[in-house]
Amino acid sequence: STPATSTTTRQVKLDKESELRIEVGMEIPLRLRLLTGTAEIFGTELPPEIWLSFPPRHKFAVFTWYGATIEMDGITETDYTADETPMVSYVNVHAVLEGRRNHAKASSSTDPDSSQGPRVIVVGPTDSGKSTLSKMLLSWAAKQGWKPTFVDLDIGQGSITIPGCIAATPIEMPIDPVEGIPLEMPLVYFFGHTTPSLNVDLYKVLVKELSQILERQFAGNAESRAAGMVINTMGWIEGVGYELLLHAIDTLNANVVLVLGQEKLCSMLKDVLKNKPNVDVVKLQKSGGVVSRNTKFRQKTRSYRIREYFYGLANDLSPHSNIANFSDLFVYKIGGGPQAPRSALPIGAEPAADPTRLVLVNINRDLLHLVLAVSFAKEPDQIISSNVAGFIYITDIDIQRKKITYLAPSAGELPSRFLIVGSLTWLET
Ligand code: ATP
Repeated sequence: STPATSTTTRQVKLDKESELRIEVGMEIPLRLRLLTGTAEIFGTELPPEIWLSFPPRHKFAVFTWYGATIEMDGITETDYTADETPMVSYVNVHAVLEGRRNHAKASSSTDPDSSQGPRVIVVGPTDSGKSTLSKMLLSWAAKQGWKPTFVDLDIGQGSITIPGCIAATPIEMPIDPVEGIPLEMPLVYFFGHTTPSLNVDLYKVLVKELSQILERQFAGNAESRAAGMVINTMGWIEGVGYELLLHAIDTLNANVVLVLGQEKLCSMLKDVLKNKPNVDVVKLQKSGGVVSRNTKFRQKTRSYRIREYFYGLANDLSPHSNIANFSDLFVYKIGGGPQAPRSALPIGAEPAADPTRLVLVNINRDLLHLVLAVSFAKEPDQIISSNVAGFIYITDIDIQRKKITYLAPSAGELPSRFLIVGSLTWLET
């Protein structure tokens, strides 16, 4: 790798089927442009000659199928070229998926099975490149004019909205390499924690809710049905994590399982899915370019995602600080709280927490610095099955005056008085 020594612009010549791997520095953005040839970033083609600015800490690769010259301006943490990549195998998968989409489109839309395009689920350990492969498959499909649905089940490092959520959104254009996925109107369910182990049953319930809505949308829309979906998952693949993968495959009716970088997971899935002849399990090589991120980095990324929700990637949004009375808002938490009082149980039995029980939370200073979701529910009993409109961040609780101060994307009344709280915190920096 090249140590970054000067700030001058420099050019990098890329041979065909090679890539320039870049980690932007911790503080300053990096400018980059395509000078000659053609190149793409995770499936999205670069416009010729136009400077793009990548924010600090961004990690990415500029890949070329036929050769290109790239110009960079700024200091990087690292940058180096690699000519060994799994891109040919990835684009071959894309070609197979295209075939299935065309087949689905050509078949009569009254037949629910043959008119269904591929439902791809990408699985693998943390830092195997799942999100990246998902983005490539989506961008390549969008480039061909399809509008595939992206489903992100990764509540830790998801790419559709803030952490603690599962979400889905149609991808109508190749994904912008800087801006990422546009935040317009995704379908979002709030889990409220960044690890599913805090409430495994709730996680499953939300995946089920999401899948039912998607199923309904697909039933009424032949175009998105034929385009199919790409599902990104968490890197937790052992024990309960594995069980959740099987649950997702089953619930979302995935028919192509792409396993990145793990022999064992692949053979386990092949074995358990062998009685489902319409499900293909395909092993794919992990790219050598995937950067491992430690716990601290992941925490930071989560924090930046929340910041981005309120302030925008380039500080281009202006969130609004609002004040409400305690009595204006109803804050619920899902799960916890014993199902039955201890006195009602046989001696020695522990009260089991009902994982999907709705508990009205007392408003007090415990809510400080938490990120809450604003539910679309009209009644409290709809909260678990409802998606969310957006998020607020609690910045002050005045017990004396019974007032809550919170940050919201905009001024004005919230779309609903029902809020959901989990364990998602944020310290504004
Ligand atoms: P997790 O399960 O932890 O969410 P993941 O398996 O989804 O991780 P990615 O998010 O796809 O992994 O990749 C990890 C990081 O590596 C990302 O920052 C991504 O942009 C970067 N990356 C992936 N592929 C390359 C590459 N070929 N060159 C440079 N960086 C890459």
